[in-house]
Amino acid sequence: MVRAAVIVAPNGPVEIRQFPAPQLEAGAVLLRTLYTEVCGTDVHLLHGQLDQTPYPLIPGHINVGTIEAASGPVTDALGQALSEGDLVTFLDVHETCNNCWHCLVARASTRCPKRRVYGITYGADEGLLGGWSEKIYLKPGVKIVRLPEGLTPETFIAGGCALPTAFHGLQRGDVGLGDTVVVQGSGPVGLMAVALTKLAGALRIVLVGAPQMRLEVGCRLGADALINFQDTTAAQRRDQVLQLTDGHGADVTIEATGVPGTLPEGMHFTRDGGVYVILGQYTDAGGVTINPHLDINRKHLEVRGCWGIDFSHFYKSIQVLARYRDCLPWEDVISRYYSLDEAAQALDDVAQQRVVKAVLRPND
Ligand SMILES: [Zn+2]
Ligand SMILES: [Zn+2]
Repeated sequence: MVRAAVIVAPNGPVEIRQFPAPQLEAGAVLLRTLYTEVCGTDVHLLHGQLDQTPYPLIPGHINVGTIEAASGPVTDALGQALSEGDLVTFLDVHETCNNCWHCLVARASTRCPKRRVYGITYGADEGLLGGWSEKIYLKPGVKIVRLPEGLTPETFIAGGCALPTAFHGLQRGDVGLGDTVVVQGSGPVGLMAVALTKLAGALRIVLVGAPQMRLEVGCRLGADALINFQDTTAAQRRDQVLQLTDGHGADVTIEATGVPGTLPEGMHFTRDGGVYVILGQYTDAGGVTINPHLDINRKHLEVRGCWGIDFSHFYKSIQVLARYRDCLPWEDVISRYYSLDEAAQALDDVAQQRVVKAVLRPND
């Protein structure tokens, strides 16, 4: 039997359940889970805030582990042979079809209606398809990535799902050498956006967030200036950002708050002709009033949405993490490790922002 933590129903309890050890179909892989993370998305799943979630559900979309068994010869996503004991991760998004209007015409594969996501859109009734489990069933076709030489599973999970999400956000913002960048939000996505912006050669990075514990991690990951959201008014924050950016505002502002009310403020942080990337509005938290003349048109502002990740964001961000693993204290985002039995506690700690990031060790 395999033990897994399950969200039973919206707002329901998190329970430990036993599942039979799966039979592997041809091309499938069984992963022994080393680490899985507790992400803001899991809090949304607990609260029933995502559409069409198949409860009961084993959460855990970004995971790392070792190959325990495989049915027949299997390879990683790029065709290299895999064997038992290999340290790997995998793209949580599965079954992007590359054969529909979204994939082929719009070239927006992260909007492909066929995509399924481990730990989010697969239910526990369909198998061990989430990481809050001693073992994870990797279906044939899941895009497996071997951890590059020297990248520890701890550093990998520190990046977690926030790293490729932020990577995609930086790409959408065309963040580059010499840019001044404001990051709104100091959760894992905001913190990874700070770190990647630093590596991208930005001139100045201003992190706006709270609480102080998160801002301090942001400082260690490369933020040049910190603005505590809880100690300031909107007018004070705007003045501080203008002061820090020679009166012009940021070239690029990246929103990673999940709070709609922060959007007009983020637009004000951005310079005329700059780019505003909306990365954190993963669930429908309601609307917000903007002034299209002052906030967008007259500012000549570009506002860009950013949905999900594809394989390139996942793969490249892992390579970047491995290359620059010693340049930044990535693991500082991990506040605490939890056993599987502590999954409910870990989820509550994330929901209440008692931790920056909670990591589960399902086999401890
Ligand atoms: Zn996530
Ligand atoms: Zn498609």
